[in-house]
Amino acid sequence: MNPLVSEANKWVLASHNQGKIREIGELLAARGIVLRSAADFSLPEPDETADSFAGNALLKARAACRATGLPALADDSGLCVTALGGRPGIHSARWAGEPRDFHAAMNKVNDALAASHDEDRSAAFVCVLALVFPDGTHRLYEGRVEGEIVWPPRGDGGFGYDPIFRPEGEGRVFAEMSRAEKAGLSHRARALAKLMAGEFPDD
Ligand code: IMP
Repeated sequence: MNPLVSEANKWVLASHNQGKIREIGELLAARGIVLRSAADFSLPEPDETADSFAGNALLKARAACRATGLPALADDSGLCVTALGGRPGIHSARWAGEPRDFHAAMNKVNDALAASHDEDRSAAFVCVLALVFPDGTHRLYEGRVEGEIVWPPRGDGGFGYDPIFRPEGEGRVFAEMSRAEKAGLSHRARALAKLMAGEFPDD
């Protein structure tokens, strides 16, 4: 590719997660955009201090945009359980403690549901993607997948809360699906599809 063209269309993803970089990078490459990672610029990971997915995605994207001078993308995601008033929500990773223990986090969800005495097991995975431009403007894209919490945990694929989340209309939980099957349904895929369907600055 012409280096001048790729220079003009370089974006940064405010993430060190290689899986996310590969997935999002392949989609953007089809639009002529070269995606660099937080690691390429040794970007620090800002504390997620906002009180919403959009707020946290924006603060990560703004920090990466400021540090690099490039358009920056960031995502924030989590599991929202209806009977728990939307928890763990933006605290989904934090419920797993440090170092991360998602068996403990899934038990916490199950214990909180038992304590709620609510029969409702509905839940949703939510992902918000923020795209921030050097001129200070931004765009937000939200993807959701509705489903329900099952117990006990099932399957050995995926990550995080995948063993206890069954998407609506499916017999299996995310952890029982192949990567490609989950990618076809997931909250992240839906947010990305909205981004890809949106207008691009050089369109
Ligand atoms: P972050 O968006 O990288 O901050 O991650 C948020 C947290 O939400 C993850 O650590 C997981 O606990 C949870 N999470 C987000 N997406 C998924 C998913 O697709 N499957 C299972 N857990 C998820």
